Amino acid sequence: MITYRIDATDVRAHLYRVTLTVAAPATEQRLSLPVWIPGSYLVREFARHLSSLVARQGGHAVPVRQLDKATWLVSTDGRSELTIGYDVYAFDTSVRAAFLDADRGFFNGTSLFLKAEGAESEPHRVALQALPDDWQVATTLRALDVDNAGRGLYEASDYDELVDHPVELGRFWRGAFTAAGVPHEFVVAGAWPDFDGERLLADSARICAAQIAFWHGAAKPPFERYLFLLNAVEEGHGGLEHRASTALIAPRRDLPRKDDGADKQAEPSDGYVNLLGLISHEYFHAWNVKRLMPREFERYDYARENYTSLLWFFEGFTSYYDDLFLLRSGLIDEARYLKLLARTLTNVLATPGRLLQSVAQASFDAWVKYYRHDENTPNATISYYAKGALVGLAFDLTLRAGGRGSLDDVLRRLWTQSRGGLIDEADIARAFEASGGRSFADELAAWVHGTGELPLRQLLEGVAVEWQSGPASVAQRLGVRVAESALTGVKVTHVLRGSAAERAGLAAGDEMLALRGWRLRRLDDAVRLLGGDAEAPLLIARDQRVLTLPLALPSAAQGAAGAIALKAAAKPAADAHARYKAWLAG
Ligand SMILES: [Zn+2]
Repeated sequence: MITYRIDATDVRAHLYRVTLTVAAPATEQRLSLPVWIPGSYLVREFARHLSSLVARQGGHAVPVRQLDKATWLVSTDGRSELTIGYDVYAFDTSVRAAFLDADRGFFNGTSLFLKAEGAESEPHRVALQALPDDWQVATTLRALDVDNAGRGLYEASDYDELVDHPVELGRFWRGAFTAAGVPHEFVVAGAWPDFDGERLLADSARICAAQIAFWHGAAKPPFERYLFLLNAVEEGHGGLEHRASTALIAPRRDLPRKDDGADKQAEPSDGYVNLLGLISHEYFHAWNVKRLMPREFERYDYARENYTSLLWFFEGFTSYYDDLFLLRSGLIDEARYLKLLARTLTNVLATPGRLLQSVAQASFDAWVKYYRHDENTPNATISYYAKGALVGLAFDLTLRAGGRGSLDDVLRRLWTQSRGGLIDEADIARAFEASGGRSFADELAAWVHGTGELPLRQLLEGVAVEWQSGPASVAQRLGVRVAESALTGVKVTHVLRGSAAERAGLAAGDEMLALRGWRLRRLDDAVRLLGGDAEAPLLIARDQRVLTLPLALPSAAQGAAGAIALKAAAKPAADAHARYKAWLAG
């Protein structure tokens, strides 16, 4: 038996004090802390926050030797109980690590729980008693003996399960609903007083019911309860999926408001649609990546990178379905859905890296590329989320155009055949073939392993959706991404490969000060300052120096495309319209 006693009372120092007890230690007992958290593919070195490690046995200190950045060796007598004490500094507001202050606590087991090597398969217990007075506990860890506030003793069957149930602590809002007869709970920290919890519950219930029906028809989902842990903050957006819960972070202004009017069917704000999309995304992961998962993840290795080439499937297809389920559960209308899809299209087409890196490579390299964004990221990489979603769309529309199958059918087929378990790319290829009645090897080679453009314009026309390119902004014509405000002016964050900005000699970090002698506050003003001329001197600041560069602005026709707009055709052909309706309705 492995037991962790957590003391979360030292809130001002942001320290969790952990006492780990190993009932029957090895004579040479190794202890290690994960370097990453499943679902977020970056080595984060959680051990950098661990300190003051001491080991005791029978009331005496025993020697501890650190073997590497995250592993310790304790020499024991091999007979009596071993106790390890240590502190974990927790001041990370993300969903991936641990946090503790006077208002709130949150932790993932990968940040707090040293693994007693050799005992991974034994039951692990967590005692959560020592908390500030009026705090509650919310977690899907199995409660063994807890009070009304959730304080007490919890248990997991093994280490993998232990670290797959994040824990929220504090004075949070909580609400509940059922979907397909399964209890679901929402815990919200940090919301403003006008937050409309009832609307959040009602809208989430529709998403959950639609997804359960998608995977199982009228049957039950593969979990007995589900918990959403939402941390509302000033800035931030993201989530991390777990087997029976998800940790979410979102701007508090994106939460629904009580005074939105008596009409609760009022159009959701853009921010709230983003939040609902996040909820939909993480919930879909309860099937796609937490159960249906890459064969490489059969046994997580917490000590190093765990590579897979399939994140385009597990993250990309999940991204394809997240917004689609907002439509399918009636939370947004078709026009709004096409707008969200167009946003993804615009984003991928504005990323030159799509011509260099395939989504399979992007998946494999997530550890050093996707999670390490820098100024060169759009030139060298493509997001397996965004392009992966478009690959999902391309497969779905191709299957539907063939008159047999759909991506829905492929996912359910994979679920059934793997019994909601491990799959690889060959399984995916076989499911496409079985669903569509032909091999999809060419599409997999071109869309997943290749870097050419996806034939989406033509596929969308096949379901009577019209594709329009909007006018390019100055940034798009120049091929730069900028951060701008009246206060700071215009600062270059990215220079796109082969662009007019690159030819002019602009670099990331440059401040664009003035064009033709006029102070530049907004990049779009450049068109007016040029006054019809194609070229003018641009004053920039770089590393304290002021330089002049000749800026040539390509015409709207020469530069990169503007934003894509997608619209349902006004007078569609009957068969195309039928496919459109079948696609959106699922
Ligand atoms: Zn995801």
